[in-house]
This record gives sequence, C-alpha cells and structure tokens, in this order.
Amino acid sequence: MASLPGVEKPKDGAGGTHGLFWIPSSINPVTYDRSFSKNGHYDNITRDNYELIVEHRVNKILFDGTTASGVQFVPTVGDGVAVSVKAKKEVILAAGAIHTPHVLQLSGIGPKALLEKARIDVVVDLPGVGQKFQDQGYVSSVAFEFTNGRPPSPAVDVERITGPTMSFNVVARLGFPLVTEHFESIADAYAGQNPADHLPANTAPEVVAGYAAFQKLHAAQLKKKNVSFLGYLVNPGPGGNVMHLHSLSHGSVNIDPSKPFSEPIVDYRALSNPTDLQIIMSNIRWLRKLMANEAFTPYAPKETNPGANVDSDEDLGAWVRGVYIPTLYHPIGTAAKMPRELGGVVDEGLLVHGTKGLSVVDASIMPSMPGGPTSQTVYMIAEKVGSKFSKFSNFFFGFGMLTRNFAGCRSHQVSSVDSARVRPESEDRTVLSRGTWRLSL
Ligand SMILES: Cc1cc2nc3c(=O)[nH]c(=O)nc-3n(C[C@H](O)[C@H](O)[C@H](O)COP(=O)(O)OP(=O)(O)OC[C@H]3O[C@@H](n4cnc5c(N)ncnc54)[C@H](O)[C@@H]3O)c2cc1C
Repeated sequence: MASLPGVEKPKDGAGGTHGLFWIPSSINPVTYDRSFSKNGHYDNITRDNYELIVEHRVNKILFDGTTASGVQFVPTVGDGVAVSVKAKKEVILAAGAIHTPHVLQLSGIGPKALLEKARIDVVVDLPGVGQKFQDQGYVSSVAFEFTNGRPPSPAVDVERITGPTMSFNVVARLGFPLVTEHFESIADAYAGQNPADHLPANTAPEVVAGYAAFQKLHAAQLKKKNVSFLGYLVNPGPGGNVMHLHSLSHGSVNIDPSKPFSEPIVDYRALSNPTDLQIIMSNIRWLRKLMANEAFTPYAPKETNPGANVDSDEDLGAWVRGVYIPTLYHPIGTAAKMPRELGGVVDEGLLVHGTKGLSVVDASIMPSMPGGPTSQTVYMIAEKVGSKFSKFSNFFFGFGMLTRNFAGCRSHQVSSVDSARVRPESEDRTVLSRGTWRLSL
C-alpha cells in the first residue's frame, strides 16, 4: 500500500498526518484484556468520597428553576423506588452520546415541541439536544481472494510479543484527495447543497444553521490530504473493511413521546445525504485499486463480493444501500459543544446552555468526528475537565463516566455495551421520592 501514489508512512497517527501507520491499543499487555471502566479504573479506587451505585439508572436531573440541584435515579432490577440525591454544588452528566440526550430530554431540556408531546415540563427549550447525531460507518463485505498462492506475511509470534506492539494494528487513514481523483467535484457539489434539503423537514433553524457550519467545514476538509475520510485496517488477507470516518448525514436520538422512560429512538438517517454514498463508493473503488496493485499481481486477486462487474454508480450504489452499516460504535454530537444559535447544547466550559450547575462530559459534546475511534478523545475531554475540577474539589456529584482526575474513570468499550443493556424497566414505573441523600464529597 505504501507504494500507492501519495500515501505517506508517518511513525504513528499522532502527528496529524494521513497515511499508513501503527496505532496503539488500550489493552493489558500481559492478559490481553481490553481496558474498560471496571478493570481500568473502578477496581483500583480506594477513596472514601467516591461511591459507585450499580443497577440503577438516572431518570431525571432535578432543577431549582434553571439551576441543577440533584438527580433522581431508579433501580433497573427488582422492585424499588426512585431516589433523589441532592448535589452540593453541581451535576455532571456523562451518560454517553445515546443516553445523555435521553436524560436531558427527560429532565425538560431539549426541543420544546418534542417535550410537550411527551408531557414533560420544559426547563430550557434547547433544540439541539439529541440532534447532530453522528457515527462512523463501514462496508464489511467487499471480499477478495487470492487465486494463486498468497503473499508472504510477517511471522508474528504472539507468545513472544509484549507491550503495545502485541497487536497487529496497522491502519491506513487517508484524506479524500488520496482516495479519488474526483474529490474536488464531489466536495464542490456538497458545498453547493442547501443545508436544510437533507435534514428532516421540521428541523429547528438553529440546528440547520449548525449543519450549514458543519457543511462548510467538511466541504473544505474533503479537499485536504490530512483529514482522514477513509479508514482501512490492514490485515494479512486480501480485501477488508473500508470505513467512512466522517458521515455527512446527521441523525437524532430522541425520547419516544409515547414512552419517554423507555430506551430512546436512535435514528442514524444513514445515507440521507447523497454525498455519503459518493464517498463510500469512492472508498470501495480505492480498495479495488489497492488490490490491483502490481505487488499483488502474482497472486491473482479476484473480487468475490459484490464482484468487479458491480461498478456503475447505479449498481454499486444500490449494493451499498443494502449492506452499509452506519455504526462503528462511535456515537457523538448529541449534546454538541457549539453556540446556542447553531444548535449547540454546551458552551466552551461544557455547561449546558441556559442552565446553571449542569455540565456534560462525554462523547456527546463532540460537534464533529475525529478521524479515528473516539475513546481517546473522550479521555482527553475527561482529562481537561478533570484538571478544571481538581482545582475545585468537593464541588460536585455526577454519574455515568466521571473525569479521570476526579474519579479516575477509564470509560471504554464495555461501558458502552453496558449502557445498551440498561433495561427499560423504568417505563410506567411510579416515580416516588424517598427523601434526599446527601453525598459527602
Ligand atoms: C462495542 C464497542 C467497541 C468499541 N471499540 C472502540 C475502540 O476500539 N476504540 C475506541 O477508541 N473506541 C471504541 N468504542 C467507543 C468508545 O467505547 C466510546 O467512544 C466511549 O466509551 C464513549 O465514552 P462516553 O463516556 O461518552 O460513554 P460511555 O462509555 O458509553 O459511558 C456512559 C456511561 O453512562 C452510563 N449510563 C447511561 N445512561 C445512564 C443513566 N440513565 N443513568 C446512569 N448511568 C447511565 C452507561 O452505563 C455508561 O457506563 C467502542 C464502543 C463499543 C460499544
């Protein structure tokens, strides 16, 4: 691959350069376990002023006017009553990009019409809550086989490898100009779109204005070599997954107005912006170019799915529509850090617009996608906010993923899976208050 025109080989991906490089893994170098909240953080906490309450979910942030004053949570297993906890100073919400907007909307912060439909008292009309939902996507089934032997692979003796180099982890992350010679016309066509045309008809003007800003930025980025739109995991076999790292179609995460306490409605609106399809087809054609590289010629690679004859925009586009997977489990954007007039939910200090004492610290604040997986960016958000709060210790009560400096949390894969497992028992549950707990922080 390194012989493809323009592909660079930086030492790693940290320098902001596109190309072919090695990436680190958050895994235990001895046991090979992936790092996640429990083994990376909770198991090692030995402080008196930290309490983790499991098998409960927060249903609601409590307000005194527009000032957050505490949270209310309910058990997710067995019978139990709702409990209200008073915050001494501040509430920090970190329920991830799917459940942070859910909790905000349940608490009366979100698009007014939606909240009214769900009969939730409006605390702040904030149209951007749950909108701007983005993820990365991929086409998994572009398959090739070598019909004449196999190229030699480097011998990897897993038993003898330790430390961060123990996993394969060679990736290509390429800017769009490296993927297709048509990058300029595709970028220009995208720049010329009317921003409202590919958003739902009832989208709030602020959210449309925010999309217009996103569109301007991404139309320019499509022309930049060092903004990675294509992701490809280099593996020993032929073909593989081609990943679309910056989806231009924005979706939403909203409460179900008829059952607000059940799981939220997650709508990817995948491929609703036609430029996404152009980019994904370009990515597939890039993979075909890679497999046609003369280094592979002796091994006679053959495309087995969808087949080299599926190549016109019409045929390939129809095939992509049937197989595209709009998630790499990297959801972001549903409480975006942007100005309120652009549909933003939190300000530069991560405080929720229009409220006092309430901030969000998780992947939902990212207004656009990094050119790779999201956990490291979440760590950085947590580090930054942690350093802010460590100056003001004893100040707050939070839930979900807390910041590393405060509570040392290493949010990772399994925590997200856990969130998907949270059961919707709270639906139809009579919410009772059992007095107020005070946490001594
Ligand atoms: C299967 C999978 C594989 C992934 N692989 C990678 C990878 O290889 N590399 C990478 O960089 N990223 C990966 N990610 C993405 C990464 O895990 C996320 O970007 C990161 O965890 C997001 O952190 P977060 O704090 O925003 O949310 P989360 O980690 O989801 O944390 C939110 C927490 O809030 C809790 N919560 C939710 N609702 C409530 C509620 N109402 N009350 C109380 N608590 C609540 C959840 O249980 C969860 O513990 C993967 C994700 C998944 C799901």
